[in-house]
Amino acid sequence: MMDNRIHQLKSSASIKGDYILCWMQQSQRIAYNHALIRAINLSNDHQLPLVVYFGVTDHYPEANLRHYHFMMEGLQDLQNKFNSLKIRFVILKTSPEIGCIELMKHASFLVMDKGYTRIQRQWRQEVLHAAQNMNINVDEVESDLVIPIETASNKEEYAARTIRTKIMSKIRAYAIEPDDAAPQISSLDLVFDLPFEEITDPMVYLKSLDIDTSIKPSTRFRGGEAEAHKVFSGFLEDRLPNYTLRNHPELDYCSYLSPYLHFGHISPIEIVVRTMDALRSKPELEESVDSFIEELVVRRELSHNFIYFNPNYDSFKGMTYQWAYDTMELHNEDQRDYLYSIEEFESCATHDPYWNAAMKEMVHTGFMHTYMRMYWCKKIIEWTPDCETAYEIAISLNNKYFLDGRDANSFTGVAWCFGKHDRAWTERPVFGKLRYMNENGLKRKFDIDAYVKKIDLMIGE
Ligand SMILES: Cc1cc2nc3c(=O)[nH]c(=O)nc-3n(C[C@H](O)[C@H](O)[C@H](O)COP(=O)(O)OP(=O)(O)OC[C@H]3O[C@@H](n4cnc5c(N)ncnc54)[C@H](O)[C@@H]3O)c2cc1C
Repeated sequence: MMDNRIHQLKSSASIKGDYILCWMQQSQRIAYNHALIRAINLSNDHQLPLVVYFGVTDHYPEANLRHYHFMMEGLQDLQNKFNSLKIRFVILKTSPEIGCIELMKHASFLVMDKGYTRIQRQWRQEVLHAAQNMNINVDEVESDLVIPIETASNKEEYAARTIRTKIMSKIRAYAIEPDDAAPQISSLDLVFDLPFEEITDPMVYLKSLDIDTSIKPSTRFRGGEAEAHKVFSGFLEDRLPNYTLRNHPELDYCSYLSPYLHFGHISPIEIVVRTMDALRSKPELEESVDSFIEELVVRRELSHNFIYFNPNYDSFKGMTYQWAYDTMELHNEDQRDYLYSIEEFESCATHDPYWNAAMKEMVHTGFMHTYMRMYWCKKIIEWTPDCETAYEIAISLNNKYFLDGRDANSFTGVAWCFGKHDRAWTERPVFGKLRYMNENGLKRKFDIDAYVKKIDLMIGE
């Protein structure tokens, strides 16, 4: 394993405690989970049982039944797998950092995965703060980016072109299969006396969560590591060869991996390793593989760079460049031909059948094709009174309906529509120098009517 995935945040002179604790919150999987591997190795080295912990809060920002359902499917999968590995998997009903601090009291080592969004970082800081008064070692391990965030770059990057070489020059060193690791001691018999309810059946527990239940689970995507591997294998066999046609929303050549990447059900490192294996046996895939790696590694890791180094990544003020604010300011008073409220947007009731189809895909299935995401957000800019309102509407709908919402890519994708990681274009009304998109582009580039029919068929209209 490349050592700079592991950050030793606190070390203790003596090893005390009854077990090794692995706090699994971001990387919700077994395969290619470098934090879990580190914890298993520590368990074997110190001959201490390993406990894996996950905390479920009903107050995760912007999460609703659709997101929880997908996550619980994954947790249920994990319970079965951990049982067969003889590892005690403790799911507690409490805010993740609070449950972790409680379990740390009797642990010798804490190994936690790394998260990059604001709340994920706050939780880990609080855990580290509590650890200062305990006799415990703390490691944080990065397993959800191919190149560890600060190894890729130590500053906010301006655009894909400025981070590409930094990432691509390191990819061979980091996209490698980790060594196998299996615990030598069973921890299944460990019993805890904790002040929190232990969740033994995630799908049953789902019904008792105090969450927004108005957004129904997606029938298009099932959560979990096994399902993520199924979707990925299907992509490698059937869709990757035509990935260069991924920008056609009427076709099905994208990977559909974003919900699984978001919940850590699959590792991007595994995806790269297996994609490169496929390329070795089929050199004709080169163009498709290059495009896929560009999206999965360069663009996705640029998104993480943005939210990691820019403290304003999730607010209108501060998420984009000065030239973009200047041009938006200049055109904020421009006459808009159509104005819609957030409720009209959510009802898929604009004058534009293509936009409505994209919104239906989002509302009913929890996903939207990449190209249509750009068109969707650009039109919100065009059909709202000002850019700040447009941003607030776009980010809230994005995070409410998408299974992959609330991700680094959510904040970066929406910010891109407001100029982030993009350049200035020819000035025009409403948009100023922001990139503009219109329905003629859709008609010229692909069969947009076939996309509308595809969505109607998918949602049974
Ligand atoms: C307005 C807008 C909102 C977006 N909201 C989200 C979001 O909430 N969550 C999310 O994961 N992505 C978001 N994206 C980025 C992108 O559209 C999705 O990641 C992609 O559509 C997911 O489909 P896929 O997995 O089949 O992608 P594929 O084409 O198969 O790509 C493989 C992986 O590469 C990454 N990727 C693809 N395109 C991009 C991109 N433009 N930027 C960064 N990474 C990319 C994703 O992790 C994706 O799963 C948004 C883009 C825009 C323009």
